[in-house]
Amino acid sequence: MSALRISILGAGAMGSLFGGLLAEAGHAVELIDVNPAQIAAVREHGLLIRNDAGERRLKLPILRPEEARTQPDWLIVFTKAMHTQGALAAARHLIGPQTRLLSLQNGLGNAEKLMAFADASRIAIGMTTVPADLVAPGEVHSHGQSKTRVVMVNGGENAALAALAVALDTAGLPCAVDPDAVVAIWEKVAFNVALNSLCAVTQRTVGGLGAAAEGRELAHAVAGEVLAVAQAEGLAVSPERTHATIDHALDHHGEHKPSMLQDLLAKRPTEIETLNGAVVRAAEAHGIEVPRATMLYALVKMAEQDMR
Ligand code: NAD
Repeated sequence: MSALRISILGAGAMGSLFGGLLAEAGHAVELIDVNPAQIAAVREHGLLIRNDAGERRLKLPILRPEEARTQPDWLIVFTKAMHTQGALAAARHLIGPQTRLLSLQNGLGNAEKLMAFADASRIAIGMTTVPADLVAPGEVHSHGQSKTRVVMVNGGENAALAALAVALDTAGLPCAVDPDAVVAIWEKVAFNVALNSLCAVTQRTVGGLGAAAEGRELAHAVAGEVLAVAQAEGLAVSPERTHATIDHALDHHGEHKPSMLQDLLAKRPTEIETLNGAVVRAAEAHGIEVPRATMLYALVKMAEQDMR
């Protein structure tokens, strides 16, 4: 396998983990970020990764967008969704004629944002179940088994995407090119709209939500609304699989605070627009009512206003 040139735009929890593991597997990785604390920590001490394979410190370059020069084979976007556009605009010079773009961000609308910067024939999206936490600047933790599914946005076969999937796979991030990746994206959106926004407004952990009968009932009802929209989009989402994943999280992710709750507690903006917001807009387009997702959308937006 030949080494790929891979730049990671947004080297927080997920970007650091993916970038670090790909660098460890021998690829030429550059991390790109704007957070001074993260940049200083990685430059000074390297990137500390702790996962099921153990703990190690890796040396790899981390640059601000304006410092970066390499036009990579793949630019993987791992900012939070509301920063995608700004980040890509500042990194536009890194998107060469051969550069391909991948988004594994949560939520809907990622493909459309990337398509403002490159032709659809060079853009891939996907869904990943990899968990990552940036526990301190320069220090990322992950654990457990995961699966990442990717697809070109135009649905075509693509040798470069197949090569990237192999690179991720051999770096310890199991990955497959999957024509149904969009189904997986929507199923995860159903999961995230339910758990993220409910935990955010109730200020409960996932386990705390699961401990209340009302919490469980609402989580499944919200997910059901999202799945109905996905079905109206013509996608063969699996309600059984999605509800089972939600039950598993409610039963086993006890102390986990979803990112939307973490963001509100830290007075940061959330990804509500690309989760509930995007679902509400898609539902409207199909003439479908999603009352619970709509109410949660309004409540999280109000919570965001309160922290200004
Ligand atoms: P994060 O906040 O830890 O990392 C985002 C990084 O982007 C930060 O380091 C930030 O400084 C950087 N950034 C912001 N603006 C930028 C800009 N203009 N240019 C360059 N970098 C910029 O977020 P995360 O948890 O890594 O999540 C990233 C995406 O992956 C989100 O869409 C999230 O929903 C998704 N996701 C996260 C997880 C997880 O477990 N953390 C799992 C699956 C998917």
